[in-house]
Amino acid sequence: MRVDVVGWNGGGMDSPMGGVRRGTAGRRWRAGARAWCVALAAVAALLVAEADARAQVAGSGGWNRPEHVDRPYIVLLSFDGMRADYLDRAPTPNFDRLIARGVRADWLNPVFPSKTFPNHYSMATGMYVDNHGLIDNSFYDREWDAWYRINDRAAVEDGRWYGGEPFWVTAEKAGIVTAAFYWIGTEAPVGGVRPTHFRMFDASVPNEARIDQVLEWLSLPERLRPHVVVMYMSDPDDVGHRYGPDSPEATEAVQRVDALVGRLLDGIESLPIADRTYFIVVSDHGMAPVDQSRIRFLDDVIDLTGIRVRFGGPYAVLDFDGDEARLEATYRALRDGLPGVRVFRREEIPERFRYRSHPRSSDLLVLAEPPELIGTRARGPGWTRGEHGFDPEHPAMRGVFMAMGPRLKPGSRIPAFDNVHVYALVMELLGLPPNPKADARLDPFAGVLVPAGAAEPAAGR
Ligand SMILES: [Zn+2]
Repeated sequence: MRVDVVGWNGGGMDSPMGGVRRGTAGRRWRAGARAWCVALAAVAALLVAEADARAQVAGSGGWNRPEHVDRPYIVLLSFDGMRADYLDRAPTPNFDRLIARGVRADWLNPVFPSKTFPNHYSMATGMYVDNHGLIDNSFYDREWDAWYRINDRAAVEDGRWYGGEPFWVTAEKAGIVTAAFYWIGTEAPVGGVRPTHFRMFDASVPNEARIDQVLEWLSLPERLRPHVVVMYMSDPDDVGHRYGPDSPEATEAVQRVDALVGRLLDGIESLPIADRTYFIVVSDHGMAPVDQSRIRFLDDVIDLTGIRVRFGGPYAVLDFDGDEARLEATYRALRDGLPGVRVFRREEIPERFRYRSHPRSSDLLVLAEPPELIGTRARGPGWTRGEHGFDPEHPAMRGVFMAMGPRLKPGSRIPAFDNVHVYALVMELLGLPPNPKADARLDPFAGVLVPAGAAEPAAGR
């Protein structure tokens, strides 16, 4: 059964049931013939490592190089759409436990647009979207005359779309094993490199099974054990969209998510490497209540024929392919016809969005304020009671950040910061030099980070 645990070949082709099976196997294994299984695991993993080494251009090959054995372990977990003030909605004993043992930020600022893909990729690369280029969940590239769409597997798995360098790629290149149970960018070879272990996204895999797999990865023999594990859960985002962020269903989701934190925290604390492990919890954005009776329809004020338009719920982006006269006329019509909605020419998009300078940015950005959305009479904005993608400065877009581990001062609270800086913390804790092209800085953590070497009780083990 241990072969099941490590026998996944890095190709991510396993079925959703595979994840469940592995989780069950892992629990039985922990209770069972441990020594025998460890031996079998080592043999199986050796074969896997060799297969991965052939498949990867420049990754770790599934082995930690000997010089990395003393590095810490980092588990980074993201809850999609976990709004900062959700923590005050219901009793959250497990979040409270994590916060008491570590550092909590007042909130985490998303990047613009406050959508899942750009935000996860910003945390992974330490870059704002104008730097890494994954500017939205779906977008068009003029030069390539091609679309990136979150539901297009070929695009999502195509490394050319992903700029910058995610920290798992840097770690793999340095000979450090990494693992991902879903994170934006881990399904594609970025710069030719994927995490040693990764999964193709499948929403049907239960969150508990994801956690059990992560704990199994962290139970691998030292040379095979990933030092970086990223994971993603779409709770509570789904519920926030369906029922609204202020619904009882959203409150129930917060309690569900809290239980998941407890499951992972308990699991980490029972590992022999617990005192060398960092546990970081983030979310990509918040959730604003929206009102379906307050849709702003573009086609009430402009003719959309021949304009390339993309809708993001709270916003739309429009491209005119060089037709300056049409652009100007449309811009004026939208400004005059949609009071209360912000309309930006590309050069007017706020600099703080760190968005407009990328070639994939559009000629016009039309941006609503909650509870309004942007749509057309023909297609609407899609039915929803909660939405995100609004200005990152809107309080409803705030995400969460909390982290614990040997170098983080327990019981600390820090001011809000932009989520790109999560990257700087991960690189610092790993002891790897950050990408000089990244926007991330370590400043937000200055007061709560113990210097390296001063707080690693198990260093040298
Ligand atoms: Zn969402």
